[in-house]
Amino acid sequence: MQKKHPLIKKNDKVVVLSGKEKGKIGTVLKVDSEKGRAIVEKVNMVKRHTRPGGKHAQGGIVEKEGPLQISNLMIMCGKCAEPTRIGKRILEDGSKVRVCKKCGELLDS
Ligand SMILES: [Zn+2]
Repeated sequence: MQKKHPLIKKNDKVVVLSGKEKGKIGTVLKVDSEKGRAIVEKVNMVKRHTRPGGKHAQGGIVEKEGPLQISNLMIMCGKCAEPTRIGKRILEDGSKVRVCKKCGELLDS
């Protein structure tokens, strides 16, 4: 089976393109490439009820980031300070890096 390479990775700064969280910007905390979803810090917060016991002795409601479709996210270029399309460049040592299609800035640190 062919392995998918999501263009968005952990620690990327992304903007949400559609849905109720449209326009929000956050840092990617987690990518689930199989489901095509990502968790973005402080975006798409959902309330969850927890049962008493374990970590939450009292039970109650906690707020947690809900998953977003990766296809609804676009990476932010630090140099352009706006969402950009991702280009690819192969370095001299053969490694592939992601670059901003507008300005060529490296998106991988
Ligand atoms: Zn750029």
